[in-house]
Amino acid sequence: MRWEAQRIDGTDPQALLPLKGLVRSVRTPEFDGVTFHEVLCKSALNRIPARSSMPFTWTINPTRGCLHACSYCFARKTHEYLDLDSGADFDTQIIVKTNVVDVLRRELARPSWQREHVALGTNSDPYMRAEGRYRLMPGIIQALADSGTPFSILTKGPLLKRDLPLLVEAAKQVPVSIAVSIALLDPDLQQRLEPGTPDPRARLNLVRAITDAGLGCNVLAMPVLPWLTDSEEQLDALHAALAEAGAGDVTTGALHLRPGAREWFMAWLAREYPQLVPRYRRIYGRGSYASKEYRTWLGERAGRIRRRHGFDRRAERMWRERDAASTPQESPPSVEPAQPALF
Ligand code: SF4
Repeated sequence: MRWEAQRIDGTDPQALLPLKGLVRSVRTPEFDGVTFHEVLCKSALNRIPARSSMPFTWTINPTRGCLHACSYCFARKTHEYLDLDSGADFDTQIIVKTNVVDVLRRELARPSWQREHVALGTNSDPYMRAEGRYRLMPGIIQALADSGTPFSILTKGPLLKRDLPLLVEAAKQVPVSIAVSIALLDPDLQQRLEPGTPDPRARLNLVRAITDAGLGCNVLAMPVLPWLTDSEEQLDALHAALAEAGAGDVTTGALHLRPGAREWFMAWLAREYPQLVPRYRRIYGRGSYASKEYRTWLGERAGRIRRRHGFDRRAERMWRERDAASTPQESPPSVEPAQPALF
């Protein structure tokens, strides 16, 4: 179906939102309840503020807002900068930078570009379903590889499989690091917690496909939810499934509740598990992070389980193989603290 035919009739797109570079706003029956706002961006590479603890300096977000609709997503707050809300609007009002590849190529060609590591998947999932329609990632991957720029991708989207041949070729030119986000195996809880995401089985298959392509794949098992996904049995089963799928390493971390995510997640918790609300208030207080006691307890449990499933040895092997196989090398950065949105 031609999207041109899906333009929102009777409205002036420029009046719809105070979005810079807005070309048109479209809806399509394939994406029920979703509006895509197609914009022409002025820049593709975003510099991370120097005060940030992220282990990279640059990100690319071809989209803003995310169809995966994770209730804990702490990129939600960024939608408020667009005069949209951090709740339902984040899940349904998606900004698409349709010219991102052209702009990126121009930026990468500047003599001042230092070819620093670029991270994708920090504020929106680059392989959410909409990528099937807009196909922005192949051009981005090609542009980064052609310019000699190392990059990493974090996703929950099996659509990445489409680009595996391209990623394999890119990895011959630059260091490429791929991580998949899977923090639970229960499809019922996943559907309620992250209603737009592919189910855990599909994501395990994605890990397998990436590994089989010879690229290596880490997993972010985040966020772990107190009393919901943190039992010995749950974490053990998760690590067993990840080992079976061929994951190179697993990084586990407790839920963060930063402003924007906090309100949305706590409303979800009150609906789904009202009995847990006082307990969450106890360990989160008014802050964004679980208490130190909880984080220490979880770290010890997860560390023990990680070793039980051999991930310390796997991780070492994966980086050794990657170092041996890659070209002008620097160690790929750890993905652990790198993802502001996806855990
Ligand atoms: S956590 Fe990641 S996948 Fe989930 S809504 Fe946020 S950006 Fe999308």
